[in-house]
Amino acid sequence: MEKIEFWNKCLSEIELNISRANFTTWFKNTSIIKEDGGIVYIGVPNEFVKDWLYNKFHKLILKTLINNNENIRGIEYIIYKQDIKEKQTPENKSIKIPTGINKELPLNDLYINREDNLNPRYNFNSFVVGPFNELAYAVAQAIITNPGQNYNPFFIYGGTGLGKTHIIQAIGNTIKQKHPEKKVFYVSLEKFAIDYINSIQNKNPNSFKEKYRKYDVVIMDDIQFISGKDKTQEELFHLFNTLYENNKQIIFSSDKHPNFIQGLEERLQSRFASGMTVQIVEPDYESRIAIIKAKFESTNCIIKPEVIACLAESLNGNIRELEGSLNSIVCQTQLRNRPLTLTEVKSLIKNNIRPKKTVEIKDIVKTVADYYNISENNIYEKTRKKEIVHARQVTMYLLREDFNVSYPLIGQKLGNRDHTTVIHSHLKIKEDLKTDPSLLQEVEKIRIMFK
Ligand code: ADP
Ligand code: MG
Repeated sequence: MEKIEFWNKCLSEIELNISRANFTTWFKNTSIIKEDGGIVYIGVPNEFVKDWLYNKFHKLILKTLINNNENIRGIEYIIYKQDIKEKQTPENKSIKIPTGINKELPLNDLYINREDNLNPRYNFNSFVVGPFNELAYAVAQAIITNPGQNYNPFFIYGGTGLGKTHIIQAIGNTIKQKHPEKKVFYVSLEKFAIDYINSIQNKNPNSFKEKYRKYDVVIMDDIQFISGKDKTQEELFHLFNTLYENNKQIIFSSDKHPNFIQGLEERLQSRFASGMTVQIVEPDYESRIAIIKAKFESTNCIIKPEVIACLAESLNGNIRELEGSLNSIVCQTQLRNRPLTLTEVKSLIKNNIRPKKTVEIKDIVKTVADYYNISENNIYEKTRKKEIVHARQVTMYLLREDFNVSYPLIGQKLGNRDHTTVIHSHLKIKEDLKTDPSLLQEVEKIRIMFK
């Protein structure tokens, strides 16, 4: 794309993110002068504008440029007078381009290391840990201390936007810091498959094999996309065995448990699940509060406690979507230069509000009873028969886990039981699920019946 066209496109995006007054004041008479080695040189009319752009809008400009061209790594602002421009071509060598001024990016969050594909933005500093992801977090810490030792492979699964990529990349980044001698590599399954196909097309499969076998830590994201890629599965199987035998740490993420990835060969299924398999679920209310607070703390935005509570209540548990809503609140707050009122916030996020899951407890009981082929009444009654107790515990687990019903209410509705019984049942099933794949299958099948 031509420089002028490219800059105009970026400007049109920048314009959407800042006020009209700011846009016209600071961006008029700017242009891209040249691009060299990933550094874009932006011409500005004077020193004042240069400082202002650098101090106030650098991050936004860089982000926009990178969104439009991923090879861009940095920006330098240079004073560039219009009259010179008329006389000289932009490429003209006589333009003095200062070097080394702004190359130090304040912004490592947009920078992806080409050696290992890791994005330093993903770390554990701003990472909120709550019941929804604490097991995954604990395993991550153990792996960081002793890569390749106890939890191999580590398989993390859960719905979209819940932090899988964040955790597995943060493991990679932290291992790099703590064990600089270890070679870490992050790759999405799709990229891995493309790499493999290219190596076949270039008649050089060995280069592919050698490349992946030389790492100490291999992190593979979104492994569910392996469905239907038979040759890639075959290759991954051999790679897995080699890495595993050599005590190299292997980490996978997926949107499903390995047993539910369609078309996944059994031998891979069992290998994926042979180490530590952990699910991340949607963050609970308290964790959502913590996440919202943490995200606002990183901005200068003042936000009222009632707004935080309202957001935590109404927003979806998908953290990526939650971030989107928070961003629009931050933008609006900056624009108005005052904290937003509750009504303003509500109207801003009305499209992202989660439909309240109205759960009829008796429907859940019926579904579970149907699944286990027992009478609904058994669940409410005091029967101590083993299979009934099990079905009752699964019911309690699902009511708590999937529908967020409180312990006392579950107890009350399921035959006036004490809430400690409910807590015990919930935890028991939760624990058993970690080690019992057939129980996991049962629970997943029941979940499908809800949908
Ligand atoms: P997934 O890979 O499961 O789809 P991501 O890892 O991409 O989800 O997370 C979505 C967004 O939410 C990212 O911007 C990530 O940084 C953020 N995020 C996820 N988990 C947390 C957390 N526990 N604390 C703070 N931010 C998080
Ligand atoms: Mg992801």
